[in-house]
Amino acid sequence: MTCPRCKIDLEQTLFYNTAVDYCPRCLGMFFDEEELRWAKDAKDKNLVWLDIDLWKDERKFRLNYGVRLCPSCRLPLYEVYYGASQIIVDVCNVCHGIWLDRGEFKKIVNYLKEESDQKLLNKYGNSMLEEFKEIFSGPETLREELADFLVLLKLLNYKFLAQHPKIAKAILQLPK
Ligand SMILES: [Zn+2]
Ligand SMILES: [Zn+2]
Repeated sequence: MTCPRCKIDLEQTLFYNTAVDYCPRCLGMFFDEEELRWAKDAKDKNLVWLDIDLWKDERKFRLNYGVRLCPSCRLPLYEVYYGASQIIVDVCNVCHGIWLDRGEFKKIVNYLKEESDQKLLNKYGNSMLEEFKEIFSGPETLREELADFLVLLKLLNYKFLAQHPKIAKAILQLPK
């Protein structure tokens, strides 16, 4: 797989049983559908923070043709905007994969920290972090953000996968 920005090969690292493809240069990340589904099976009782607005309301989605190519399918990704969040996520309408720029990752994490219950988020992140820290073999720069990453992975799964039929429909309605 190739980074949509740098055009170099993505590398793969394991978060527990979840393989994540990332670019060693720009640290962008690609999540394929299977990777997103993983979080669904995890038994987790602290999901109250998922009630935040991000990606919840289908009327707040805006779409655009993107210029980057899906690392997996090599077809153009669509840019998905959400409300006033200023977060842009690149979505593939073929494999349902999601590309996240480093900058978007940070924006989402900041959004979460502003909008959600900070105490709950920390508790959730820290308990998972202890479990995963030893297993993680990726670069140090990602390791530092492991808790944020795991929280984000959950959010992507619950919100983005649930909204995918609506995103696919919006893609069909884009002017040609
Ligand atoms: Zn890159
Ligand atoms: Zn794809």
